[in-house]
Amino acid sequence: MVDIDPRMRLEALLTEYSTRAEAIERDLSRVHAQSFSEQATERQNDMVLQGLLADARASILEVKQALMRLDAGTYGECAQCAEPIKAERLEALPATPLCINCAD
Ligand SMILES: [Zn+2]
Repeated sequence: MVDIDPRMRLEALLTEYSTRAEAIERDLSRVHAQSFSEQATERQNDMVLQGLLADARASILEVKQALMRLDAGTYGECAQCAEPIKAERLEALPATPLCINCAD
């Protein structure tokens, strides 16, 4: 068990990542420039944005899974070795499914 209630932190993170993903999606769906050179720059930017979007979606998934573990009563247990994850680690990374040993 952990001393702090992580649910509020996880929900705050979920909101943060969802807002970020939506902003990136808006950027990606904007009207494209007319000139060829501008389009080339846009394509590069889009590739960067796609990467950021993938990161945000992966983070959202991680947070959702952490919330499910919270509901299941297994939050704070390492998903790999079932050892308790240290409170300091959960405080720094509330959504992490792995203890420090397994994450290395
Ligand atoms: Zn572990």
